[in-house]
Amino acid sequence: MQDDCIRKLYKNQVDGSELHGLVALQEVIQELDPLKMKGCVVVLPTLNPAGLLTLKRSPFYTDSDPNRLWLDPKPKKEPIINYEDPYDKLLDPKNFSEIQEQVYSTISEIFKEVDYYIDLHCHSIQSVPFSYIDRVYYEEDDDKSQIESAKQLFDYNLVMVKLFNLPVVVEDPPRHYFRQNLHRSTTGSFVNGFRKPAFTVELGGSGIVKRDLIKIAKKGILNVLGWAKILETEPKREPLMPDLDEKLWQEIPIHSTTSGLFIPLVKEGKLVEKGEPIIEIRNIFGETKEIIKAPEDGAVLAFYDDVGCYPNSELATFIVENKVILICPWNYDEKKEEKEKQDKD
Ligand SMILES: [Zn+2]
Repeated sequence: MQDDCIRKLYKNQVDGSELHGLVALQEVIQELDPLKMKGCVVVLPTLNPAGLLTLKRSPFYTDSDPNRLWLDPKPKKEPIINYEDPYDKLLDPKNFSEIQEQVYSTISEIFKEVDYYIDLHCHSIQSVPFSYIDRVYYEEDDDKSQIESAKQLFDYNLVMVKLFNLPVVVEDPPRHYFRQNLHRSTTGSFVNGFRKPAFTVELGGSGIVKRDLIKIAKKGILNVLGWAKILETEPKREPLMPDLDEKLWQEIPIHSTTSGLFIPLVKEGKLVEKGEPIIEIRNIFGETKEIIKAPEDGAVLAFYDDVGCYPNSELATFIVENKVILICPWNYDEKKEEKEKQDKD
């Protein structure tokens, strides 16, 4: 970190329909006085202008998910390919990165220069505001210095995340993280590629703007700016949901087994005990078809928008205490699978 120019990058969501970050940033800029600041704040109001125009997650010129196409931080052991004829190369899609990847590779040149990074998103209308932190991955599983520096990075990042005063959810465990290409999300790529702190904030619903969420976001941003010594103000830890502040959480999807209309039985963000009813599914006559219970002690993070459901519909996301390792080697999951196989044999 350079003392005389501590930089920070803030931006709005990369997903076009998520507006709370954009509005919060417009207002934060108004409140910043460059003469009273140290270092430099970079604000990118949107990373997806074409998605913003149509209020869609993807830009109108491609169907791909924009938040899964950032520089891939995972070291690859690619085989050397010997193309047999001059046209083989043209047939290999790997040789033609798509437009969104090209755009984000270029923007990553700015990211590289930044010391801290916050990415502002929206989850869903019936969600509590919360922050996501990425696991830190490292290369050699027996290299103590790599383990130590990964741990330091995670802990340092957690201090910053906590200053947003929202519940902290750890991104999916390795297997699901890589399957969904979350290591190529903005913050996954930043933390694990550039090895610097970054986190994602989820601020309620897409396509709408709610004043209370703007207030929460502004307060969080100014708090982090104080912590990074860009502003002279002292950061304040004032958890918005004190009950959910102690633990690091992990998400579990809640599915239905039947068709019907689903009715939430608890408020999102309220701590519930294992076995407590959280959702009722009714048929058209108002008869109860299914009562879904809390899988463990925890809370509903979000109920999804669709009231109608079918067997296996995802109705909500529930949070339980995270028990999965927080720093791990890139091949953690392959090793685990290998071990599971050996144990079976
Ligand atoms: Zn998003």
